[in-house]
Amino acid sequence: MDCIFCKIANKEIPSDIIYEDESLLVFKDINPLAPVHLLVVPKVHINSLNDISESNSSIVSKIFELIPQIAKEMKINETGYRVISNCGKDGDQTVEHLHYHILGGRKLDSSLG
Ligand code: 5GP
Ligand code: ZN
Repeated sequence: MDCIFCKIANKEIPSDIIYEDESLLVFKDINPLAPVHLLVVPKVHINSLNDISESNSSIVSKIFELIPQIAKEMKINETGYRVISNCGKDGDQTVEHLHYHILGGRKLDSSLG
């Protein structure tokens, strides 16, 4: 499958990996929009939020259990951060492999759109 995040997960494309376990990968966004801009990615291919269901939602729990740990490691847990998952055309999703952005390290704009 020609999916850039599957290739990153398979180490076919290099990335700046912050964390890895058997099911998740966290790496730095190639085009950071904040001093801390990480992507939390399941190793299994899921297209987007639209494809989460009872059969695969345990990965979402794992992602949200991991996020506070990563925030602490990156020392943004006290200053705060934002977690975003863009979905589809109107959500401006550019990579069709489910991922969660973690943005922090500066005061973020209050605009969500
Ligand atoms: P989306 O726009 O789908 O929500 O987010 C995709 C993100 O992936 C973008 O912020 C983009 O900068 C990042 N990205 C795209 N290709 C690569 C890559 O090859 N390596 C890394 N580290 N990030 C990438
Ligand atoms: Zn993929």
